[in-house]
This record gives sequence, structure tokens and C-alpha cells, in this order.
Amino acid sequence: MTFDLTPEQDQLRDAVRALGRRYGHSYFVAKAKSGEHTTELWAEAGRLGYLGVNIPTEYGGGGGGITELAIVCEELAAAGCPLLLLVVSPAIAATVLSRHGTEEQRKRHLPGLADGSQKIVFAITEPEAGSNFHRLGTVARRDGDGWLLNGRKCYISGVDEAGHVLVVARTEDSSTGKLKPALFLVPTDAPGLTRSKLDMEIVSPENQFLLYLDDVRLPADALLGESLDAGLPALFAGLNPERITVAAMGAGTGRYAIERASEYTATRKVWGGRSIGSHQGVSHPLAHAAVQVELARLMIQKAATLYDAGRDLEAGVAGNMAKYAAGEAAALAVDTAVQVLGGAGMTTEYGVATLLGAVRAGRIAPVSREMILNFVAQHVLGQEKSY
Ligand SMILES: Cc1cc2nc3c(=O)[nH]c(=O)nc-3n(C[C@H](O)[C@H](O)[C@H](O)COP(=O)(O)OP(=O)(O)OC[C@H]3O[C@@H](n4cnc5c(N)ncnc54)[C@H](O)[C@@H]3O)c2cc1C
Repeated sequence: MTFDLTPEQDQLRDAVRALGRRYGHSYFVAKAKSGEHTTELWAEAGRLGYLGVNIPTEYGGGGGGITELAIVCEELAAAGCPLLLLVVSPAIAATVLSRHGTEEQRKRHLPGLADGSQKIVFAITEPEAGSNFHRLGTVARRDGDGWLLNGRKCYISGVDEAGHVLVVARTEDSSTGKLKPALFLVPTDAPGLTRSKLDMEIVSPENQFLLYLDDVRLPADALLGESLDAGLPALFAGLNPERITVAAMGAGTGRYAIERASEYTATRKVWGGRSIGSHQGVSHPLAHAAVQVELARLMIQKAATLYDAGRDLEAGVAGNMAKYAAGEAAALAVDTAVQVLGGAGMTTEYGVATLLGAVRAGRIAPVSREMILNFVAQHVLGQEKSY
């Protein structure tokens, strides 16, 4: 057993950290508040190969795994730039395409995802279905050689920045007549696909949308994979990378908040010559949050290692646990940082309250803490399902 990164992973971490620090949290917040995207940072990360670390080399990627992508997510977040679209485009879309796309789909999409010139976002959530994906109501019907899609999606991140949306729909199984999941690569300018931006209380340069699919006509090759049977495994292929990278982003955000807070409490003096950090009422909550973040990081490392070793079922358990732990740790770390900074904690300048919305959302999305507890209760503890 080893807890060390390889020399290449160490170099990647240092290099991404340096890039993130060059931009920093003030850049991230300025972009968010002016309604812009982090275009420069995304483009530079793409040029340097960080967005394609997990994409096979024959399609322009780095040939690494989710361990490497988690390093990228964590280090950018630790520099104050938690980029949600890393979770959607390189983690979900690139993994699904690499594992289940046709050769033609891989050739068409992966090089652009690897260099950052293209983004593919992911749409599964629906207003009526919510956490219950069995109730998905977006349906794809045969239309000559192609497909006709109808349905509604909500909270879909980054549609305004992406060339395609990977839409989870259902098709009728010709043998059973039942509906089964299928994934479609839908161009964001497809006729019949419209969107409206949701107002979210999150300081973020990335936006969420309601999507309306009204008779969206697609060619046959918009269906992800060689046949309809690719749908279910393709959907599951995206889930572990999503959970692991979103956890890494949470752990990075927690580290960032604790670092900002520790710098402040080590130097701020209001009772004579001692720093406020000398008071255990201030330092213990910070130390407690640091322990939680570090525990989450261990679980992330375990989940990513299992996933990259092809041990998908074990990675599923570890990935869910990592996501739960990191979501809780990030929320605790940011809230604690705000508290120990006092009034400064609520200012934009000190750059911690700006993360409150994002870490709060991290306990809900992409899978809520309750649904993870359900998963652990049933699959690890053998409890009966209540829903
Ligand atoms: C910032 C942000 C970005 C997002 N980006 C995307 C995206 O890019 N693509 C996408 O497809 N989706 C996206 N989502 C949606 C996200 O995945 C969902 O919000 C999440 O899965 C929860 O679904 P819901 O909001 O419908 O909650 P609901 O399912 O309505 O649940 C509401 C509450 O009830 C709880 N609950 C529900 N069922 C149970 C149960 N059986 N047991 C215990 N508790 C239960 C939930 O945990 C939750 O707390 C995003 C959401 C946010 C906030």
C-alpha cells in the first residue's frame, strides 16, 4: 500500500496548482459577477493538456485516468477556481464516449474535449423525476433512420458554453415494449431544443438551465454507442467519474477555505499580543474541518484508484462515500472559515463567503447526501429499500 502519488502525478499537481494560483479566486469571482465564463483559464488548461488527462492518447489526451483528472479538479479548486464543467465535460462526457462511443463518435468529439476547444454537458435531471431516474420522461422515438426527442430537463450546467448536450432519454425496447435508457449527443443549436437560464444563488461563472426538447430531430448516429444496448452501461460509466471528480472539487474547495482562514487567524490580533488562532475556540473548528477534508481526500484517492483499476463496483461504493464525505467536509470548511474570519468572512474581498452557495449545492448535486445514505444503507448495510 502506498499513499504517494507517482512522480508524474506529483508534477501534474504542482503544475495545475501553479496555473490555478495565477488566476486565483478573485478572477473566478470577477467572471461570475460579470456574467462571464472562465474562458481564459479553461483554454489555457486545455492547451496544457490538463482537461484531457483522462482521455486516451490516440484521441489527443494524456492517457491517464480519473486519478489524474481528480488531481486537476482538486488543485484548481484549492486555488479558488472550482470549475464545475470539469465534472461534466472531461469526467462524464469524455468517459462515456471513450468507453461506449462508436469509433466515429470518439474521433469526432474526444480531441476537442481533450484540448478544451469543445465542451459536452450532461442532462439527466428532470422536473418530475428528480432523484428518481426510473421516472425519466424524456422519450426518443424512431423517425425514419433517425430519432425524435421530446422532454424537459432542469438544472443543466453549462449549456450556453457547450457544442453538445449528452441527453439521457428513454426508447421503447422492441423486444419487451418497455422503455430503457439511451444517451443522445444533441447539438446545442438543434432545432426544437430551447433553454432558459435559472437564477441560482451560487457565485459561479457556470450557469444552470431548463431545457425543452420539442420534436428535436436527430440523425441515427446521434445515439451514443453502436446500439440501444449501450445506453445503460454508458449511463453507469459516467456516474463514478462524476462522483469522484465532484468530491475532488469539494476537497480542493475545503483546502482553499481552510488556508484562507488559517492565514487570517494566525495574524489577526484583537486581545493584546496573541493571535485569534491561539484561542482554541477558533483553532479547533478549523483543525476539525482540516481533519474532515483530509479524510475525504483519502476516500477520493481510494475511489479513483479502484476506478482506474477497473474495479467498478467497489469504486461505486468508494466514490459515493468520497462524494458524501467531501460534500460535508467542504461545507463545514467554508462555513468555519467564514466564522473565524468574523465580519471579514462575509466580504467579497476575503473570498470565502463567495463559496457558500457552491458548497451548499455540493450536498445536493449531482447526487444528494440522502440518496448516498440510501445507497450505503442498502448496498453496504443490507437494509431494505423504502422507496
Ligand atoms: C448547481 C447544480 C448543478 C447541477 N447540474 C446538473 C447537470 O449539469 N445535469 C443534470 O442532469 N443535473 C444537474 N443538477 C441537478 C442535480 O443532479 C439534482 O438537483 C439532484 O440530483 C437532486 O434532484 P432534485 O433537485 O430533483 O431533488 P429531489 O429529488 O426533488 O429531492 C429533494 C430532496 O429530497 C431528498 N430525497 C428525495 N428522495 C429521497 C429518498 N428516497 N430518501 C431520502 N431523501 C430523498 C433529496 O435528497 C433532496 O434533499 C444540478 C443541480 C445543481 C444544484
